[in-house]
Amino acid sequence: VYLIIMTYAVGVDLGGTNMRAALVDESGKIHAHAKVRTPVEAGPEATAVAMNALVSEVRSSETIIGIGIGSPGPLSRTEKMIYQTPNLPGFDRFPLGQRLQDLAGCTVFLDNDAKCAAYGEAHFGRGKGRNNMILMTFGTGIGGGIFVGGRMLYGKSDGACEVGHLTLYPGGHRCPCGNRGCFESYCSATAFKRRAFDKSGHEMGGREIFEAFDQGHAWALDLMKEFAVDMAIGTASLVNIFEPETIVFGGGLFSTGGGPLCAWVQDAIKDRCFKSSQRGLEIVPSALGGDAGVLGAASLVFHLRQ
Ligand SMILES: [Zn+2]
Repeated sequence: VYLIIMTYAVGVDLGGTNMRAALVDESGKIHAHAKVRTPVEAGPEATAVAMNALVSEVRSSETIIGIGIGSPGPLSRTEKMIYQTPNLPGFDRFPLGQRLQDLAGCTVFLDNDAKCAAYGEAHFGRGKGRNNMILMTFGTGIGGGIFVGGRMLYGKSDGACEVGHLTLYPGGHRCPCGNRGCFESYCSATAFKRRAFDKSGHEMGGREIFEAFDQGHAWALDLMKEFAVDMAIGTASLVNIFEPETIVFGGGLFSTGGGPLCAWVQDAIKDRCFKSSQRGLEIVPSALGGDAGVLGAASLVFHLRQ
C-alpha cells in the first residue's frame, strides 16, 4: 500500500475591506475557503486574532507546513511587519505576521500582495516554467511582481517592483506616493472606471464597460484605444528594462472581462520597444482569477520552503 502524502499550506489575502483564507495543496487545488470583514477600526491586534480564527476555520484537521499572508505594502519580510499602508490605518510597524505566528503556532511568511500573486502565477498559472516573468495587478492601484532569471526582485528593503509608480505623464495627476502622473493614476481599474465615466457620463463597473465595448458603443471603443496605449507606454518601459518571456495582467480589471486588452497592448507596444525583445513575448491575462490572492499567498509558503 502506498500512501500519497499531500502537502498543504494556508494562504491569506489581507485587504482593507475583507480578508480571505484558503487551504491549498502543492498542486494549487483549494480544499477549503473562508472570508471575513477586516476589523480595521478594532485595530491590528483584533485583526491578528480574527485572522487566526479564519485560518483555523480552513485548516481544520490538516497538517500545514505554513501560512502565507499577502498584504498591501510597503512591508518587511524578515520582521513580518507592515510599515505603513493607507488601507490599514493604525497598522504602522505592527508585526502582524509575527503575531499570527505566535497565535497559530506555525511558520508565517508575509509578503506584498502583488508579489504573492506573481508567485501564484509562477507556480500554478501562466508563469509556469518561465524564468523571466512580470505580473501586474490592476485594481485600486497597480501592483507588480518581477522575476528575473527565476528570482523575484526585492531591492534593498523589499520595496522593488512598484510598477504602478513609473511616470506616465510628467506633470499629470498627483499621486499619494508623492510623484505626479504615475502609471496607476491612469491605468488602474479605478482609473479605467473614471475614464469611462468621463466619456459616457455614466457610473459603470468594469463588466458593463467591456459589454458596452462588445456592443459597439463609440465611446467604449475610444476608451479601449486610449487606455491600451497608456498601458502599452508603461508596459514597453518594463519590456525594455527586463525583457520578460511572459507578462501576466491580473487584478479586478482582468477578472471582470479585461482579457481583450492584452492583444491591444501587445499591438500598441510594437512601436515602443526593441523588436528582438518583442519576439516570443506573450502578454496574457491571469489564469488564477479571483483566487489569485489566496493561491499566491499559499505559493509563498511552498516557494520559501524549497
Ligand atoms: Zn505614485
